[in-house]
Amino acid sequence: MNREDVNPGLPRLRRPRAILFDVYDTLFINGVEEWVGTFERICRAQSLQIGAKELWTHWKRIEVGFRQRRTNLADPSMSPPFKSYAVAWTECFAQTFKELGLKGDASGAAQRSVTDMSKRPIFEDTKPALAALRPIARLGVFSNADDAFLRPLLGDSRLEFEVVASSESAAVYKPATAAFHHLAGLMKVETRDAWYVGDQLHDDVLGARSVGMVAIWINRKHAPRGHDGPVPDATIDDLRQLTVLLDRST
Ligand SMILES: [Mg+2]
Repeated sequence: MNREDVNPGLPRLRRPRAILFDVYDTLFINGVEEWVGTFERICRAQSLQIGAKELWTHWKRIEVGFRQRRTNLADPSMSPPFKSYAVAWTECFAQTFKELGLKGDASGAAQRSVTDMSKRPIFEDTKPALAALRPIARLGVFSNADDAFLRPLLGDSRLEFEVVASSESAAVYKPATAAFHHLAGLMKVETRDAWYVGDQLHDDVLGARSVGMVAIWINRKHAPRGHDGPVPDATIDDLRQLTVLLDRST
C-alpha cells in the first residue's frame, strides 16, 4: 500500500520553499479555559467582586469590537492607527470596569493578560511536528501578538524559527495582506512558494490566500467551516500531518 492510500483525504499541494505558522491555537493552546484562568488571577489580585467568567465575557465582547475595527480590509489605508494588544487591552479593561461599576486597575489587568499570554501551554503535536519539518523545510512565524508575550512564549519552549514576526513588529494585523507580505519579505520567499498554517479561517486562511500562499487550516476540533467562509487548500487536525502533505507535494 502506498502513502496515498493511507491518506486519501489529503490533497497534493504545491511544494513550498517555506512553511509559515500562526502561533495561538495553532502551536499553543489559547482557549476560553486559559483566558478564564487569567481573569481569575486578575479578580483575585484586585479583589474584584465579580466572577472571572462573567468579567471575561463582558471584556471579550469589547475586545472583539477592537478586533473588528482594527483593520479595514476594503481599504487598509483607512484602518485606524495601529494599537498593540497592551494598549488595546488596557482600554478594553478600562471600559469594562466602567460599565460594570468596578474599581479595577486596567493597566494591571492588561499586564497580567500579557504575562499570561507568554505562558500558554503547548499542543502535544507541536514539538514533534516542527522537529520533523525543521531538517526539510524553512520555518517562520507571523502572530497577531505583542513581542512582549510572543517572544518569551517561543523562547521558553525552545521553538526555533528562521523568522519570528508579530503584528506589533509589522504594525499590522492579519488578515491584512501587508502582514503576509511582511513575513514573506523577511523570509525572502515569494508568497506563492509559501504555506501558511493557522487555526482561523478569517485571519489565517483568508489572509494567506489573498496573497497567493497555500493556506492550511488546522481544525483540531473538527469545527464546521460554514458555507460562505474562506476555503483552505488543505485541512488538517494534527500538525504532524504537515510532513505527509510535504511528502505528497509536487
Ligand atoms: Mg491562531
